[in-house]
Amino acid sequence: MLDRVLQEIRARQRFVVTSHARPDGDGIGSALAFGQILRVMGKEADVVMHDGVPRIYQNLPFAERAMQADLVPANDAVVMLECDSVRRAGLEGLESCFLINIDHHASGRNFAHINWIDSSVMATAELVYRFARRACVPVDRDIATCLYTALMTDTGSFMFEGTNEHTFTVARELVLAGADPAVCARHIYFGHSTAKMQLLGAALSNLHRDGPLAWISVTQEQMQRFDAREEDCEGLVNYALSIGDVQVAIFFRELPDSRYRVSLRSKGEVNVSTVAEHFGGGGHKCASGCSLDGPLQIAVSRVVERLRSETTASNANRATD
Ligand code: 5GP
Repeated sequence: MLDRVLQEIRARQRFVVTSHARPDGDGIGSALAFGQILRVMGKEADVVMHDGVPRIYQNLPFAERAMQADLVPANDAVVMLECDSVRRAGLEGLESCFLINIDHHASGRNFAHINWIDSSVMATAELVYRFARRACVPVDRDIATCLYTALMTDTGSFMFEGTNEHTFTVARELVLAGADPAVCARHIYFGHSTAKMQLLGAALSNLHRDGPLAWISVTQEQMQRFDAREEDCEGLVNYALSIGDVQVAIFFRELPDSRYRVSLRSKGEVNVSTVAEHFGGGGHKCASGCSLDGPLQIAVSRVVERLRSETTASNANRATD
C-alpha cells in the first residue's frame, strides 16, 4: 500500500494535508512533517486543521505555515493522517476530494480512495517516516522533530502498551536525524497554561472511584471560569489513571450543547476501544474516545456500566487463561 500511496502522490501536484479535529501530537506532528515531505518532493502542500495548531505544538517546525479553516482549499488530493472518517476532520468539502487515508488505529476505516492503515505501529508518524524514506526525501532535523514529537506523544512518552524495540529504533533514527528529545519533551510536558492546571485542580477535587475505575469531569462553567480552551483538557485523564489501583480512567468534558466528550484510558488489562466503539467512537485498546448525551450522571452511569462488564469479561478471560 505504501507504493500505491507514493504512486498516487507522484501523479498529483496540489495537496491539502489534514488530521482529525482537536488534533493530538501524532495528528499535528505527522501532518506538519507530511506537508514538508510533499514540498521537498516538489509538490504544493497546505496543512489545514479545522481547530488550528494547539498551543503546546506551536513551537514545532512548520507550525506557523499551518492554516485553520472550516472549508478545504482547492486541491488535487487530500492526505488525511490519523483520522478515521471525513466527519472527524471537520472540514467542509472533503466529500468531493480525492482522499488518501494514512492511519494506525485498529478501528481505522477504509473511507478514502486510498487507505493505508497499519495498526502494528504505535503512531501514524512511523508510517510518515516510512513514506519519506520510500520517496527518498531526506529526513532533516525539522521533519525528525515533528515525527519524534508525534511518536513521543502517541506512545505516552514511550510508556504505553505496544511500545517495543521497533518503536525505539524509529525514535533512535529520528534522534540521529536531529530531533532533540529534551527540547521536544519540554514543549509538550512543561508548556502548560495556568488555566489547564486550574482545570486539573477542579477535576481532581471531584474524583470518583468504583473498584478499578476512576473518573473526573469538567463543566462548561469551570472552563469559562478559568478561561480554559478545549486543548487545556488534553491529558487530564492521565492524572486519574496514575492512581495505583486504577485500571481504567475516564474523563467527561461538558460540551456547549450539553453533550459530553469522553476520554478513556486503560493501563492495559481492559480494552477501552470496544467501550468507545459501543458509543460510536473509537481509538486504541488503551486510549479511546467517544461522545454521549448528558446529563452527566446518565453519561457516567452508561459508560461505567459498560466498563464494569468489560472489566468483568477481561477478568474472566484471565481466570480461564
Ligand atoms: P482522546 O481521548 O485523546 O480524545 O482520544 C484518544 C484516542 O481515541 C485517540 O487515538 C483518538 O484518535 C481516538 N478517538 C477519540 N475520540 C474518538 C471518536 O469520537 N471516534 C474515533 N473513531 N476515535 C476517537
